[in-house]
Amino acid sequence: MISLIGIPLDANSSHLVGPAKGPAAIRAALSSDSHNDSAESSVVVMPSVHDVGDVNVANEKGSFSDADLITASIAEQLAAARQVISLGGDHSVTYPILRAFRDVYESLTVVHIDAHPDIYDDLDGNPLSHASPFARALEDGCMTTLVQLGIRTATPHQLEQAERWNVTMHSARQLNRFDPSALSGPVYLSIDLDGLDPSVAPGVSHHEPGGLTMRELLDIIESLPGPLVGADVVELNPDRDLIEMTAMVGAKLVKEIAAAMLLRR
Ligand code: MN
Ligand code: MN
Repeated sequence: MISLIGIPLDANSSHLVGPAKGPAAIRAALSSDSHNDSAESSVVVMPSVHDVGDVNVANEKGSFSDADLITASIAEQLAAARQVISLGGDHSVTYPILRAFRDVYESLTVVHIDAHPDIYDDLDGNPLSHASPFARALEDGCMTTLVQLGIRTATPHQLEQAERWNVTMHSARQLNRFDPSALSGPVYLSIDLDGLDPSVAPGVSHHEPGGLTMRELLDIIESLPGPLVGADVVELNPDRDLIEMTAMVGAKLVKEIAAAMLLRR
């Protein structure tokens, strides 16, 4: 069984708020009768996805108690032997999520789709900023391997950070260098919707043209080795969306991630 959990937190965003409304928007798209419950592989996924509701965060900037609450909520699902799909929220949620996975999985490969590396040592004095979750997760030993795909905003500082932590970073330009056969499971997949091109996913706070196509992202999900033990879909900002199209992108990603979890557990 797969747990779907919402994390309505956007206080750690550096530019705009709005992603706190993301979980509700993705759930609405998931339950729309415009599509059925099958993934592209014809696996009927939704009966295996159990919505456990939202984490009751206070949504305060830099809040370690919100982070602890997220870690505890994910840990509860992992203790019940669930695979977990989390809906953001801004990308700051991934650090406390990964702390829960660290406590269960001895080794973990994290595949991170994003326009941004999110490994600032410090941005605006907020250690829990959505620009830093992977720096915090690396410091805390939350993963054995980090592979970043679709990056197109790496600053010299972030390149240094990537080198320091031995991160494999494939920019959007270098996507063809990604070799999923070199990865080993268990795998955690973190998808920042701004990794996609804004023409696919306009409902994000940071438009960064030159991103992945939806088909490229779906092919990446399909190529990952199993087991896929957890995933998140973050940074949907419904205030910026057009005709709910990015919410539907998020919903489709949930279905395809669930199928990958069910087929390769
Ligand atoms: Mn991000
Ligand atoms: Mn991003």
